[in-house]
Amino acid sequence: MENAAKGAESVVRRWLAYALESMVVHEQELGRLDAVAGDGDHGATMVRGLRAAHTAAKEANGSAGDLLVAAGAAFADAGGGASGALLGALITTVGRALSDGPYNLTTTTTALQAGLATVTRLGKAQPGDKTLIDALQPFVDALAGQPADTPLIVAWRTALPAAEAGVAATQTMVAKRGRAAKLGERSFGHPDPGAVSLTYLLQAMSTVWDENHPS
Ligand SMILES: [Mg+2]
Repeated sequence: MENAAKGAESVVRRWLAYALESMVVHEQELGRLDAVAGDGDHGATMVRGLRAAHTAAKEANGSAGDLLVAAGAAFADAGGGASGALLGALITTVGRALSDGPYNLTTTTTALQAGLATVTRLGKAQPGDKTLIDALQPFVDALAGQPADTPLIVAWRTALPAAEAGVAATQTMVAKRGRAAKLGERSFGHPDPGAVSLTYLLQAMSTVWDENHPS
C-alpha cells in the first residue's frame, strides 16, 4: 500500500517534469497558434505555469492528490491570464477529487469529470466553442467508456487518440470564447492552442508510464 502510494507521488512529479519538457519543445508552436486569433502568449503561459507547478510538486508533501493540488495552485499563480487560471483549476480539482487514492480507472475518470465540470463552469464554454474542452471531453468520455477493471495505463493509452481527434476537430471550429472571440473567424483552419497543450499534458502522463512499462 505504502509503495503504491509512493509510486503515485513519483508519477505526479515525473508527469510534471515531462509535461514541462514537452511544453518547452512546443512553446513556439503554441505561441504561433495562439497568435492566429489571440495574443500569442499561450506557449509562454504553459511553460511558466508548468515550471512553477513542477517546483511546487517537488517541494510539497502528502499524497499524489495533495501534490496535484499544490501544482495547480502554483500553475494558476505563475501562468497567469485566463488559461493559467483554467488549467490551474483543472489540476487542483483533479487533485482534490483523487485525494489519497486509490488511483485507478474509476477514481481517475471521476476526478477528470470533476475537472471538466470546473473548466466548463469557469470558462463558460461548451463543446464546439474551440477550447481545451474539445480535447478533454472526448478523452474523459473514452476513459469512462472502458470496463472499470481496465488497468489505468491501458485505458489512458486507449483514450489518447480521442483527445488527438478532438484537437483535429477544433480546426474546423470558430473560436467563441475569450480573446479569440473577436477574431474567431481567423482561427478557422487552425487547431485551438488550448486543446493542443491539454493533449500534450495527457501524452506526458503516457510517457511516464511508458518508462515504467515499455510496451
Ligand atoms: Mg493568449
